[in-house]
Amino acid sequence: IAFIGNPNSGKTSIFNYASRSYEHVGNYSGVTVETKLARIEYKDYTFNLFDLPGTYSLSSFSPEEIYVRDFLSENLPDVIINVVDATNLERNLYLTTQLIDMNVRVVMALNMFDELRRRADKFDHISFAQMIGIPIIPTVGSKGKGLARLFEAVIKKYNEPERYRKKIHINYGHDIEKSISHILPCINLPENQEITNRLCPRYIAVKLIEGDAHILDKIEKAKNKDLLIETANQERKKLKELFADDTETLFTDARFGFVSGALREVFQPNNEKRRKYSEKIDNILTHRFIGIPVFFLFLWIMFEATFILGRAPTNWINQMVFWLSGITEKLIPPGDFQNLVTDGILGGVGGVLAFLPNILILFFFISFMEDSGYMARAAFIMDKLMHKIGLHGKSFIPLIMGFGCNVPAIMSTRIIESKNNRILTMLILPFMSCSARLPVYILIISAFFPNHQGTVLFGIYLTGILLAIISALIFNILFIKKDDSSFVMELPPYRIPTLKNTSRHMWNKASQYLQKIGGIILIASIIIWGLQYYPKNSSLLTSAHQNLTAHADLNKNEFSGSYLEKIGKTLEPAMQPMGFDWKMTVSLLAGIPGKEIVVSTMGVLYESNQNTPDQNLGDRIRNDKYDYGPRKGSNVYSPVVALAYLMFILVYFPCIAVLATVASESGSIWWAILQLFYTTGMAWILSFIVYKVGSLIIL
Ligand code: GDP
Ligand code: MG
Repeated sequence: IAFIGNPNSGKTSIFNYASRSYEHVGNYSGVTVETKLARIEYKDYTFNLFDLPGTYSLSSFSPEEIYVRDFLSENLPDVIINVVDATNLERNLYLTTQLIDMNVRVVMALNMFDELRRRADKFDHISFAQMIGIPIIPTVGSKGKGLARLFEAVIKKYNEPERYRKKIHINYGHDIEKSISHILPCINLPENQEITNRLCPRYIAVKLIEGDAHILDKIEKAKNKDLLIETANQERKKLKELFADDTETLFTDARFGFVSGALREVFQPNNEKRRKYSEKIDNILTHRFIGIPVFFLFLWIMFEATFILGRAPTNWINQMVFWLSGITEKLIPPGDFQNLVTDGILGGVGGVLAFLPNILILFFFISFMEDSGYMARAAFIMDKLMHKIGLHGKSFIPLIMGFGCNVPAIMSTRIIESKNNRILTMLILPFMSCSARLPVYILIISAFFPNHQGTVLFGIYLTGILLAIISALIFNILFIKKDDSSFVMELPPYRIPTLKNTSRHMWNKASQYLQKIGGIILIASIIIWGLQYYPKNSSLLTSAHQNLTAHADLNKNEFSGSYLEKIGKTLEPAMQPMGFDWKMTVSLLAGIPGKEIVVSTMGVLYESNQNTPDQNLGDRIRNDKYDYGPRKGSNVYSPVVALAYLMFILVYFPCIAVLATVASESGSIWWAILQLFYTTGMAWILSFIVYKVGSLIIL
C-alpha cells in the first residue's frame, strides 16, 4: 500500500498512526524525502505501508515526481492510498487525475476533514466518489481518525474482481482522444505484455503524447519501439498544430478542467472568515519591513529560552551524575576500572547528557515553527534575500532545519528543483550550527559570558548565517552558476500544532540523542579516557582517588605525559596562534565524529581532582592553568580565547555523517572534500582574527 499525495497533505501523519511509528511530520513541503516502510497486521492481512515523498504531479520535473512514478511502476503496489488535503481540493485532485490515468487501484483518504468542517465548506464527497470511481474516506491524520474505515476500503478494493472495476477515464476531448486511440494499437500487443502489465496502455499513450521524456525509458524494451515513438510523434505534432500550444499544456488544462468542473458540482466553499484570519496574521509576519525583524526576534527568543528553561533540568542531571559517581566509587574498588567508570564513562557521557534539556527545547521551538506553518512564511520572507545570494526561499527550510541536525537537512534539499541550488545549499549548510555543537557553546558561554548568555549564543548563530551568506556569494562566483527559475511558494494555513505531535517530535529527537550518547559518544569517551590514562606513570590528570598523585608530581616536568597529551602537544603549534592549548586541540580533534564528543572529551580531560571536587566542568575549564612552557602558571582561557574557540567550533569540520551525506546527495565525493577543507580553513582564519583582534582590544 503506497501513500501518495501532495506535500503537507498528511501522509506521514496517517502512516505514523497506522504503524505506530514516529516519522517526522511538519507543516511544509519536503519533509518526507525518503520512502519509509512499515509492516502492520490488520485483521487477516499483512500490510506493507510505504510513505512516499509528496508530489503535486506525476510529470517528470522534480526528482520526487520521477521517484514516485518509478515506485508505482516497479513496485506495483496492490492499493494506493491517495491522501488529499480537503482544504485544498483543487490542487490536490490534480494528482488524483493522474492516478486515474494510470488505472491503478486507488482509495482516497480525504484528510484534514476536521478543517473542512470547521470552515463550513460543503463537499459532497459521496457523489464525488461515484464520479471518479474511487472510494473516499474522510480522515483526520493528526488524530488518527477514520483509519479503520480507510483500511476496510483498502481491503475491499484489493479484493474487487477486475471486471467489476469501474473504468473511469478523464476525457481529454475529441482530438486528443482520437490521437490516443491511434497509439493504443501499437502498445496493446501480446509481445508488449511485459510493459503493459506494469503500466496501463492508456497512460503510456498519454505520456507519449505529452512528450514526457521519462516514459521513453519504460518502453525501451518494446519490440515495436520505433514505430510507437514515430506514431506518437506524429500525433503530437498534429495536436500541436491544431491547438497552437504544446501538448503538455493541453493535458494540464484538461486535467484542471476536469477537477474544477467536478468540484463545481459537488463543492461549495465558505472561505470568507478563515482566510481573513490567516491574512491578518500574514500581514504582519510576512510584512516587507517587519517580517525579517520579527523572524530574528523569534530566533532570539528561541535561544534565550534554550538557556533559561534548560538551566534547572541540566542541574538535576548534573547532580544525578555526581551522585552516581559517588555510588560507583563506593561499589567498585579503587583502580583502573573505577577510574574508567567514574572519569571515563560518567565524566564523558554525563557531560553530554546534561545538555539533553537544552537540545529538547531547541527542537521544541523548531518543530513548533514547522507545525504551525510559520516556517513556510520564514521561507517566504527570506525569498528576496535568498535570491541575492543565488538561492531561493525554498533553500531556507533546509537551512533552518540545519539548526537541528545537518544530516536530515541535507537530505531535505531534495525539495529544491535546481541541481546547482541544491549543491550550493548543501555546501553552506554546515554553517547553520547544528544542535550537537550546542553543548559546547553552552559549556563555554556559561563559563565565560555568564551575563550575556542568550545574546552571545544568538551572536554565534548569526555569525554562522553571515558566513553562509558570504560563502554562498563566493561559491557563486567561483563554481556555481546562478539560475533564476521561479516557482510557487505556497503558504499553508496556520495551524495550532497538537501537543501530541510536538511532543512526539521531541521524543523522537531525544531518543536519537540518547542513542548517540549510548553509542558513539560512549565509545569515544572510553577511547579518550584510555589515551589520557595510559601510560600510567603520567597521570597529570589522575583522579582524586589514585594513590599515584605524589609519583605523578615528580614526573610532571618531564615530557612524559599520556598518549593524549603527546598527540595534543604535537599538534599544539598549529593551534597556538589562536591561543589554544593541547587540551583544546585534542577536544577539537575528538569532535570529528560528532561535536558532542568535544564536551565529553573535555569532561574526561578536566575531570575533577581533590582540590576541586565540587566544581562543575565550566569552573574547572575557567581555572585551568598552563603547567608547562613559557606561559606556565597563567590561565589557559580568557574570554578572548573562549570566543576564538567558539568560532572554531562553529565553523570547523562538519561531522563525518554530514560529509558522507553531502557526498551521496550531491553525487560526488569532491563536494564533500571541498567542504572539509574550506570549513576547517575558514575556522582557522576566523579564530585567528578573533584572537588577535580581541587580544589587541583587551590589551
Ligand atoms: P505529509 O507531508 O503529507 O507527510 O504531511 P504531514 O503528515 O507531515 O502533515 C502536515 C501537517 O498537517 C502536520 O502539521 C500535521 O500535524 C497536520 N495534519 C495532518 N493531518 C491533519 C488533519 O487531518 N487535520 C489537521 N488539522 N491537521 C493535520
Ligand atoms: Mg511526510
